[in-house]
Amino acid sequence: MQRSIPLGRIAGIQIGANWSWLLIFALVAWSLAEGIFPSQNPGMTDAAYWVMAVIAALLFFGSIVLHELGHALQARRDDVEIEGITLWLFGGVAQFHNMYRTPDSEFRIAVAGPLVTLVLAGALIGGASIVPLPESVEAVVFWLGYINLVLLVFNLLPALPLDGGRVLHALLWRLRGDLARATRVAALVGVGFGSLMIAGGVLLFLATGVFGALWLAFIGWFLSAAARAEAEHMAVRHALGGLRVRDVMSREPVAVPSNATLQAFADEYAIDTTFTTYPVVEHDRPVGLLPFDAISSVPRDEWHARKVRDVMLPRDQVTVLDADREAGDAVHELAGTGVDRALVVEDDHLVGLVAPADLRRAARLADTDQQAG
Ligand SMILES: [Zn+2]
Repeated sequence: MQRSIPLGRIAGIQIGANWSWLLIFALVAWSLAEGIFPSQNPGMTDAAYWVMAVIAALLFFGSIVLHELGHALQARRDDVEIEGITLWLFGGVAQFHNMYRTPDSEFRIAVAGPLVTLVLAGALIGGASIVPLPESVEAVVFWLGYINLVLLVFNLLPALPLDGGRVLHALLWRLRGDLARATRVAALVGVGFGSLMIAGGVLLFLATGVFGALWLAFIGWFLSAAARAEAEHMAVRHALGGLRVRDVMSREPVAVPSNATLQAFADEYAIDTTFTTYPVVEHDRPVGLLPFDAISSVPRDEWHARKVRDVMLPRDQVTVLDADREAGDAVHELAGTGVDRALVVEDDHLVGLVAPADLRRAARLADTDQQAG
């Protein structure tokens, strides 16, 4: 669903990396090989620095996987369904299907990752201090321990999408028993932290001219955006309350048979309707989604020869929801997917389509009802 490079499974949990991670990997390896290792351990060959750098970057990657596995395994113990782990720009994200049931469960899942990182950092730094190692190995181990400490501190900032923010959210939730309020406050703190980092980064850049200061601003920007998104998600979720997917979906969407040619699709379906996405069916059974854009990538003279099924997004890349599921779950499921439409099924028959706009509209209606009542 998310565009990530699959890397395999650990303990049954799917691990993948976002494309941005390749960039980070290259950046980390490069700065280690050209900067950090040569200045800390002078006198080795360039080749040695590069070998050390690539190994260190790979192990860094491994320690982030372990951190996320900490979250994911605790989530499984707490009966929260796990979709997978995606590594991206600033670390990893463990994706959960449903929500935390209790503040205690959220707390346990949030601290499990940093706990792993803490143990890793301690073991690496402690181990390298006690056990005599060759210089190159020692340099790698020390750096890994240090970078895990940095990761730990960053993750424990009490700003909502970060682990520290989750902990804060769980504590607020527990203290007052009010989930919506806890989310508002925790998100506000996240936005505040993000704004401080933006201001700090820009000021630092203006004062020193050091380009790296802009990274701080960039991370701050990312933090506030993520905190805002989380707050909005939770607000919609909260407003949707007891509604089911069937209550909010668009019913009887215009569906296209998978064996229709693109020409037939253009002549018979696209001409009368203005949807951006069409469900694709085979004998009433949904088999995929056809974004209207997908056919524009096919040259017009091939429309007679190509079938809808050749260009559609197959079902395994599409969000499929049961009509009976809680509408709030759809908010989570649709978040971060490339195609923001979900197929709604009942006994494996297509009954509807859900878009984020449907959820927002339903949430607004529900909100008005609550205020009126
Ligand atoms: Zn974490």
